[in-house]
Amino acid sequence: MIDTPTTTAARTGTATATLFIGGAWVPASDNATRTIRCPANGEFVGSVSEATTADAEAAIHAARAAFDGGAWASTPGPARGDFLLRVAAELRVRRAQFARAETLDTGKRLVESEIDMDDIANCFSYFGKLAGQDAGRIVDAGDENVVSRIVYEPVGVCGLIAPWNYPLLQAAWKIAPALAAGNSFILKPSELTPHTSILMMELLDDLGLPAGVANLVLGAGAVAGAPLSSHPDVDLVSFTGGLETGKKIAAAAAGTVKKVALELGGKNPNVIFADADFDAAVDNALNGAFVHSGQVCSAGARIVVEESIAERFVDELVRRANQIRLGGPFDPDAETGPLISAAHRDKVTAYVEKGLAEGARLRSGGTWGEGDLSVGFYYTPTILDQVTRGMSVVIDEAFGPVVTVETFTTEDEAVAIANDTVYGLAGAVWTENAGRAQRIAKRLRHGTVWINDFHPYLPQAEWGGYGQSGVGRELGPSGLSEYQEAKHIYQNINPSVTGWFAAR
Ligand code: NAD
Repeated sequence: MIDTPTTTAARTGTATATLFIGGAWVPASDNATRTIRCPANGEFVGSVSEATTADAEAAIHAARAAFDGGAWASTPGPARGDFLLRVAAELRVRRAQFARAETLDTGKRLVESEIDMDDIANCFSYFGKLAGQDAGRIVDAGDENVVSRIVYEPVGVCGLIAPWNYPLLQAAWKIAPALAAGNSFILKPSELTPHTSILMMELLDDLGLPAGVANLVLGAGAVAGAPLSSHPDVDLVSFTGGLETGKKIAAAAAGTVKKVALELGGKNPNVIFADADFDAAVDNALNGAFVHSGQVCSAGARIVVEESIAERFVDELVRRANQIRLGGPFDPDAETGPLISAAHRDKVTAYVEKGLAEGARLRSGGTWGEGDLSVGFYYTPTILDQVTRGMSVVIDEAFGPVVTVETFTTEDEAVAIANDTVYGLAGAVWTENAGRAQRIAKRLRHGTVWINDFHPYLPQAEWGGYGQSGVGRELGPSGLSEYQEAKHIYQNINPSVTGWFAAR
């Protein structure tokens, strides 16, 4: 069990009051709660408030009032930046508490949550430094009587909807730039992983963020999340999650023509040429596919390997995959953890079974964790080869520890296979030929391309997808622009009669 709900209960005097609305911790309006259990062993983690639609609307009104009141929006950019730097520093102080909460909600290894918390602090530092650096720009109007300039202003009220795989990290990619730009926001984390979002609200409140600037609603997407995409008082909705939910959010947002940012799924190719560093390519193919049990939007779920080394490559991949140690978050020998839920494990199981029914060959995995692991939602690292284009396992995102193997003989064929997806989030190319590496990187229709690596990202570099992997970019300067409106201010310093219409 973690201390968050208890801490909050002590503050508020109520049993479960984990919604943060207008600067106050409140229970759900119907007092409903949800029990969170650790996916690694089913143990009780905490009980949190389950928001109603009315609670979400109350949070939207609080954010609107805070924005219109201007306490944060009119704070100078450098001062907002200083606040974000203090958030980063405080996150480093509270790292252990945050990491433990993330690990209990997700079941991921503690060390991975600790890395996530460091990345989150770095994200706040990055946007803290960026805030207030850009005072806009002067435009040469080509007329000495005109002063023309562009200024960047906050969009307004932002609805931020996050998934469960990297709960606070994905939220931080939204919260940090939203605050840097001067917005108010309502955060709706996944109903499965609420605790680090609660801790983040406590931290922002402790550091003195004005009431109503940051609001938190918890609960089911269709109830607590849906108003964030449909309500007229929300100016922007930023969503990270699955493709089908993303389509619903885009459709709901169209009703009020709000700004929409979408970070969706991926079916990411990992292209390996025969001249690649063999050991490094095998090792990183394992990381790409199986880190966090494949519950990563940029997971390297499609290995596309040159025919001449395919058999040796897959044999070695299978040998290594069979040795991956599954285990709970605090097991020092564990190398990766469970899936998030029983429902998600059922989905991954059905996905693999469908692939086998369509003719794929199972080379490793395809089973649930046994013995001590049967108390959690474990699924063994799974490799499928003899797959063909058009099979569901080659097209659809598994979001689990499943990788397929396809082969090619020419560069053109490798590119065609890698780009043959409705998604376009990330991809990698492995080769010792520098020219080829650049040629392939240029031709891949994906938002991030790694050369001789897999998975790293930088807060100062844009992240996002081509195709149906999303709309817009997070991180980097564009990640801040998502939360800004550009305004053109045009001044005539020597007004005169235009004469366009005759004076009568
Ligand atoms: P999901 O789409 O099921 O849920 C994401 C969030 O949306 C949750 O908070 C959920 O409660 C909410 N939601 C659901 N229905 C809603 C609705 N109608 N209106 C408003 N909100 C609603 O996704 P998930 O299962 O939590 O996460 C996994 C998915 O996220 C995968 O597809 C993965 O690829 C994607 N993802 C993408 C990135 C990226 O950077 N592109 C990063 C992480 C995860």
